Order: sequence, then structure tokens, then C-alpha cells
Amino acid sequence: MNRTGNHCIECTVRQCAHHAGENNYCALDKVSIGTHEANPTMTECVDCLSFVKR
Ligand code: SF4
Repeated sequence: MNRTGNHCIECTVRQCAHHAGENNYCALDKVSIGTHEANPTMTECVDCLSFVKR
């Protein structure tokens, strides 16, 4: 499915139900970001909490 992507939210997670499709953008107006670490120190520590499995 191809939807209009929000150009303020670049994303390559195509497995997410909110992904815009062919473009590397999220289709949501806003997303929630968080961490699964007690003390995040690198990119891998941070997650998109708005992710929904496609
Ligand atoms: S909700 Fe998060 S993971 Fe899903 S497409 Fe948007 S930015 Fe990517």
C-alpha cells in the first residue's frame, strides 16, 4: 500500500503498518519515540513506540 509520507518523519521500517510504502517515510502526523534501555548511549537503544506490525 502506498500512502502519502510525512516528510518530517523519515523511516525505513517497511514492516510497520504506518509506513508510507515506496517512499522511506512514515504516514503518521506524529510518532512517539522512546528507549528500552535504562541509560541509552547509541542509536540502537532508541525505538519508535508507534510501531505496529503490518
Ligand atoms: S510508526 Fe514508527 S516505525 Fe512505523 S512507519 Fe512510522 S516512524 Fe516508522
